[in-house]
Amino acid sequence: SAPSSQSQQRLAGKVAVITGGASGIGKATAAEFVRNGAKVVIADIQDDLGHAAVAELGPDAACYTRCDVSDEAQIAAAVDLAVARHGRLDVMFNNAGIGGRPLRPPLGAMDLADFDRAMAINARGVMAGLKHAARVMVPRRSGSVICTASVAGVVGMGPMADPAYGASKAAVLGLVRVVAAEMARSGVRVNAISPGAVPTPAAIRTFTTLLPGKSAEEIRRIIEENVNMVVAGTVLEAEDIAKAALYLASDEAKYVSGHNLIVDGGFNVTR
Ligand code: NAD
Repeated sequence: SAPSSQSQQRLAGKVAVITGGASGIGKATAAEFVRNGAKVVIADIQDDLGHAAVAELGPDAACYTRCDVSDEAQIAAAVDLAVARHGRLDVMFNNAGIGGRPLRPPLGAMDLADFDRAMAINARGVMAGLKHAARVMVPRRSGSVICTASVAGVVGMGPMADPAYGASKAAVLGLVRVVAAEMARSGVRVNAISPGAVPTPAAIRTFTTLLPGKSAEEIRRIIEENVNMVVAGTVLEAEDIAKAALYLASDEAKYVSGHNLIVDGGFNVTR
């Protein structure tokens, strides 16, 4: 869509790192941030999609760096790249994550390697992002850190939900609560966003495991009609999460910290 006029640009002059920015929620947020005047560093492990996103957003506003969030050195390098390229870091969006396994084995047969993997990416990756954002933001006494949790970190999601995923996302919420308190006096805000089911590539893959034989389009319709059924007639899209991130990133949220912004159409209060 057409770029917003200068007066509508809510992130004018700001610099953001977006992990998992090559796809889904992260990519939609990169586009929203750029529309609002920000420079973005897309940090991901899908190089082709990352470069494609930069081509769409324009090489002046966006760049891509390969960054596996389970490796602290790579997070540190992505933060340093933003500072080297743009002189500052205003927004850190710790968004990269892997989905749960809905058709997991029964608890007694679960492989704890799957638990370790979920924790390494979804929880430890966010911890590393918080640490390195703090390293550059606290000395400037300014910044907004946003971490993607999930409604699955807030409610139990039922008997076949993946405990590793739920634990990793609950860990994100715990990190946000603790770290927000430490950062408040430094002028750095720390918040979480907890999306409901958004039909991104990752979510469609997850539901395909549950419903083998269905096409991506059928899966998308099932998610739209059955999972986010609370807000009748509307569909939860990656752009809705991007709007929440835009708010938390902007100065309009200058007194919002330690918050978990649930964007699920009210699903969580039905559980
Ligand atoms: P997606 O697969 O479209 O995007 C996730 C991105 O993260 C991908 O580009 C992937 O390459 C990247 N990624 C994965 N592992 C990484 C790693 N180790 N280092 C760096 N990047 C990595 O999925 P999405 O739905 O946009 O997911 C984004 C976030 O939203 C995740 O944290 C996910 O758990 C969370 N979430 C998604 C939903 C949903 O329904 N889609 C719901 C709640 C929470």
